[in-house]
Amino acid sequence: MKVGIREGEIPILEIAGDEKARMSLVVMKFGGTSVEDPAAIGRTAAIVAGRVSAGKNPVVIVSAMAKVTDQLLRAAASAATGDKTGALSISSRLRSRHKDTACALVKDAKAASELLTWMDQKFDALDEVLRGLAAILELTPRISDLIVSNGERLSCRMIAAAFRERGIDAEAVDARQVVLTDSQYQKAAPMDAAIEKRAEEKLRPLVKAGKVPVMGGFIGSNEDGITTTLGRGGSDFTGALIGGALNADAIEIWTDVDGIMTADPRVCPDALRVKVISFEEAAELAYFGAKVLHPATILPAVKKNIPVLVLNSRNPANEGTRIISLAPHCRSPFKSIAVKKKLSIIDVVASRMLMTHGYLKEIFTVFDKHQCAVDMVSTSEVSVSLTVDSNDKLPAVAADLSRLADVKYEGKKALICLVGEDIRGQNGMAAQVFNAVRHINVRMISQGASEINMSFMIDEEDADEAVRSLHGAFFQDPDPAIFDVEARKAAVSS
Ligand code: ASP
Ligand code: MG
Repeated sequence: MKVGIREGEIPILEIAGDEKARMSLVVMKFGGTSVEDPAAIGRTAAIVAGRVSAGKNPVVIVSAMAKVTDQLLRAAASAATGDKTGALSISSRLRSRHKDTACALVKDAKAASELLTWMDQKFDALDEVLRGLAAILELTPRISDLIVSNGERLSCRMIAAAFRERGIDAEAVDARQVVLTDSQYQKAAPMDAAIEKRAEEKLRPLVKAGKVPVMGGFIGSNEDGITTTLGRGGSDFTGALIGGALNADAIEIWTDVDGIMTADPRVCPDALRVKVISFEEAAELAYFGAKVLHPATILPAVKKNIPVLVLNSRNPANEGTRIISLAPHCRSPFKSIAVKKKLSIIDVVASRMLMTHGYLKEIFTVFDKHQCAVDMVSTSEVSVSLTVDSNDKLPAVAADLSRLADVKYEGKKALICLVGEDIRGQNGMAAQVFNAVRHINVRMISQGASEINMSFMIDEEDADEAVRSLHGAFFQDPDPAIFDVEARKAAVSS
């Protein structure tokens, strides 16, 4: 590149890879409820068309239509236990639902007939697999992934056709050609470098040509081209992977809530939308059951410093929540209060032998054997208390543990978790928190090593009251830079 400069003139440099720089690439991921029926898909199309007319280059990632993944898994499970009729009837209902939706959306006769023929082929093939399962009575993770992948494969083609009908130059891309993974079926790990390369080859040229690629989330394939999945809820992960691979300007996660809230609005009517939150805080909340997005989602975005926006496809004018690497300073110590219910607490008391070397290991071996994940642990000289969320495994775990020690367990517990970057290094925060819930019996307390969450365990029946008391104490005077205070004001004055 050469630029001739005369004196006093400011050189206009040509930037290498200028097309890349000029494109405003945004990955838009739509979850199951955003594509659940013709009306929802219509709203989704309008949102994407809006981005296109605003000069953006969207790459669209879609989930299966709501509940389809569950139903496909049920069909597979039924077939594998020999219930062929049950499995085929689930498949037949899914076939009708997809074809009816396609007919409602695609009016162009040729496009509609092509789509319907293709759908019939997919369902015929699915039925073959289900019949095979009913004969061999064994469902492997690999076959499960193949069956369940139909949800996203179907939604992707159908939504691309619906977009074209609505004037969007959309093109369906089979995710299995882009998302290369290892071979751990049902929870495959993505191969970042290969995905980047394939995204450049398969998606970037479409974007450059002004097209809108539409790709299913959640699914991928291994090196041999065999279908894999990234784990339940994996479409968000696909969104972040593709956003990372293409170096998107932003990743939009379109769902059916207004973003991350300060508390569950059903429990706490004056909960506020959080306008901006850090990646770390959002991951912490996701882990504690705030059903907004999957924690692993954000990792590929964090690595590349790409902001993630959580938006509501039923309320697209709302700004949602922006998740960024470093949250700006916030006047309130916490961003949000999350609750995880249906937990149990187990007390292991070493009455017979006092704590000895290897004792904790033995305890954890028991949990491991029963594949029972432990959330929180606290130990004293003679006892260990643990919390778990798989209540059904408890009797068996307790029976094994009772060989080592005295065991008591109690269900119907809830973990309350307060998340905020600004609790780092603040003195007296615990005192303020426990003062707000002093009328409630607190069982176990932990402050995560991350120093951005404080959690404690109480009886499930006290959970709603605890959330309201904490919300009252900590969101009295919310920072307008961080929380949507305008919405609260509007609600009060209307
Ligand atoms: N359809 C898949 C599921 O329900 C993936 C997703 O929606 O994120 O788990
Ligand atoms: Mg889903």
